[in-house]
Amino acid sequence: MTLFSSDSLKLFILGTLISSSLITAGCQTTTQAGEVGVQRKQFLLLSSQQADAGAAQFYAQEMQKFSSKGTLNANPQQTARVREIASRLINQAGAFRPDVRNWKWEVNVINSKELNAYCAAGGKIAVYSGLIDSLHLTDAEIAAVMGHEIAHALREHTREAMSEAVAQQVGVSVLASLAGLGQGATDLLAGATHVAVGLPFSRQKEREADDIGLELMARAGYDPHSALSVWRKMMANGGGRPTEFLSTHPDPANRIRDIEAHLPRVMPLYEAAKKTHKK
Ligand SMILES: [Zn+2]
Repeated sequence: MTLFSSDSLKLFILGTLISSSLITAGCQTTTQAGEVGVQRKQFLLLSSQQADAGAAQFYAQEMQKFSSKGTLNANPQQTARVREIASRLINQAGAFRPDVRNWKWEVNVINSKELNAYCAAGGKIAVYSGLIDSLHLTDAEIAAVMGHEIAHALREHTREAMSEAVAQQVGVSVLASLAGLGQGATDLLAGATHVAVGLPFSRQKEREADDIGLELMARAGYDPHSALSVWRKMMANGGGRPTEFLSTHPDPANRIRDIEAHLPRVMPLYEAAKKTHKK
């Protein structure tokens, strides 16, 4: 993933803000707590609609780029496999927020040696084949990675990170006076999504994604222990090809400890779900 300089990021964010006709401010939480108990209040300045519109444009441009190179869903079997796992996870996302049923989910596989995956705002999922092939991921391990990425989207972490960055740049009182219509707003938001997808989230947001992702996979009938094995595989792979995913997801040893601590809470959900999923 191409990284923009931090100056470009600021420019995108400020441009986004100034182009925004809708600025919402407030502390709220985007999801229900679930068994894993994620309840942190979030600072959300931009609206969901703004973040989702930017993400949708970013995603469409990305998929078009790979499609023209012939690397989008080039392996139909693999695409079907990833989409099946995604749909099982998405079916459980309502446990954290009922409105996900109205999201325009998309799931695509990019044929690339990169070890990467993301879920952009509003449910736009991309999985790079290198992640699956190089690490020989099982279905449950793919579910662990995708569950984590879906959790970032449920928690609207990109929108939150953009809001925090904006607040650092200009005072909140200034924000209130800024209101202008801009037809370039979605372009700018797409750019901001591009930047956000390539940047690491805070450790706190990562922990939330780990916890919610763990519960999602358990509810979908995937053994949550696979969240441990996938991190171990990524660490073991560190000596070879650099893992794009690990560069934005540091500190795997700490994450493994946190996941282990949360396993007892989600195992009953997995045991119950297993009965409806034969695998
Ligand atoms: Zn993450």
